[in-house]
Amino acid sequence: MRIAVVGAGIAGLTCAYMLCSKHKVYVYEKNNRPGGGIFSIKYKEDNSESYVDLGFSIYNRKHYPNLVNLLDQLKIRSQEVPKSIIINHPNSKLYWCLGENSSSFFSPTTFLKPINYKVFSLWRRWKKQWKSFLEKKDIKTPLSEYLKEQGVAEDVQKKFVLPLIQSFWCGLRSTLDDMPAYYLFSYLSKIGLLEDHEEARWRIIRGGGFRIISQLVSALINPVRFYTEIVKISRRTEYVEITTHTGEKETFDVVILAIPANDALKILEKPTPSEEQILPSFGYEEFDVVLHSDERFIQTPLKDPAGWYIQVSDTPEKIPPTVTWKLNHLQQLSIKTPLLLTFASHGNYVPADKTITVLRRKIPKPTWKMLSVQKRFTEINGTNRTYFCGDYWGDGTLEDSIVSALQVIPLIEQQQARTQTI
Ligand SMILES: Cc1cc2nc3c(=O)[nH]c(=O)nc-3n(C[C@H](O)[C@H](O)[C@H](O)COP(=O)(O)OP(=O)(O)OC[C@H]3O[C@@H](n4cnc5c(N)ncnc54)[C@H](O)[C@@H]3O)c2cc1C
Repeated sequence: MRIAVVGAGIAGLTCAYMLCSKHKVYVYEKNNRPGGGIFSIKYKEDNSESYVDLGFSIYNRKHYPNLVNLLDQLKIRSQEVPKSIIINHPNSKLYWCLGENSSSFFSPTTFLKPINYKVFSLWRRWKKQWKSFLEKKDIKTPLSEYLKEQGVAEDVQKKFVLPLIQSFWCGLRSTLDDMPAYYLFSYLSKIGLLEDHEEARWRIIRGGGFRIISQLVSALINPVRFYTEIVKISRRTEYVEITTHTGEKETFDVVILAIPANDALKILEKPTPSEEQILPSFGYEEFDVVLHSDERFIQTPLKDPAGWYIQVSDTPEKIPPTVTWKLNHLQQLSIKTPLLLTFASHGNYVPADKTITVLRRKIPKPTWKMLSVQKRFTEINGTNRTYFCGDYWGDGTLEDSIVSALQVIPLIEQQQARTQTI
């Protein structure tokens, strides 16, 4: 079959990689580089160069089995890195550290504050309860209701739970009512925070996440067509016609849309009623990611450094926390300059002389609607020779993109078998 893949992120490239030995596969990418959310830069200091990841960087073996398989196939090596997140309340002088390498959970200087013990016991309780909660598959209970049922104190909800969940979505605004309790545990477990065993430890790709992308691209038979935005997809009974931004048209047997769900809908000519209902239910947020060296974003009296800092405002319900990754620690870089990546900094702007680069990023935002339509994957995948994959079918992680791509492959093979029978 002739297959067009729109989008050279991990989802599109995984599809292309899996299909290219049996089919004629052509990948279209609007940018001048592949990888989408996987983005590494070369950073020079003194006489040495290091690869620094400004997008995907962290995974764990337990909850990323499909990524682990892909890395094995591509013979890409990874390494363990320390797992730690610090929640900072500079104004009320509260500091909590979650992760395996921390010698203290809270700051010794605030030892006697009762909230410390409440947060500590809640965290211990979650570590015991998350599995049974997820097994119930309850996607309806809002986090606010669950916390109330569990008797979690108001100050703990506001100062610990809310900033934590907002930080998972890069410091974007959300409330305890918007968020299903299921999502909290699903995400916390996926990033390995609720388990201490070896398989849940954080890992990074040696030499930068971009190595996955370059290996996939070099395994393809046809080169990726860069600078080629697809602006229209017209489906006919016998074929699919795609139109590029320059007006060129080409026909295929199948098209795979490996781009954000809302962008996919915009380019479909005559979407089906199911596509019109399902695709806009995935919400997205755009925000700036700033690479800088301003250490005010990670100041804390806790003695151990961390990879991930959540700086909380006095009113987290109005001003979400500022999330900063300390890349030197998170990616174990041998670079002396502090390399900090701050997401969606709400009013906490980085001065120009400390800014290295600014990138615009877009991520799926978990909503109630999204959880209810994720179950309808097969309703739109395979109709009218069209397939959809991307991280929006799961929790917005790299593993979710790969899983959705791998779900598309057998559906395409089935379509081919049906066509051959007819
Ligand atoms: C800053 C940041 C850090 C992250 N860190 C982690 C992490 O540590 N661990 C983790 O598991 N996940 C992480 N993620 C999430 C992870 O990077 C994404 O889930 C994953 O990369 C998404 O891959 P995708 O292929 O689904 O989509 P994308 O990567 O978005 O790829 C879509 C591609 O399609 C192209 N495109 C769009 N429209 C068109 C069009 N009309 N025509 C042609 N091309 C088009 C885009 O340019 C893009 O290249 C992070 C995300 C961000 C933003």
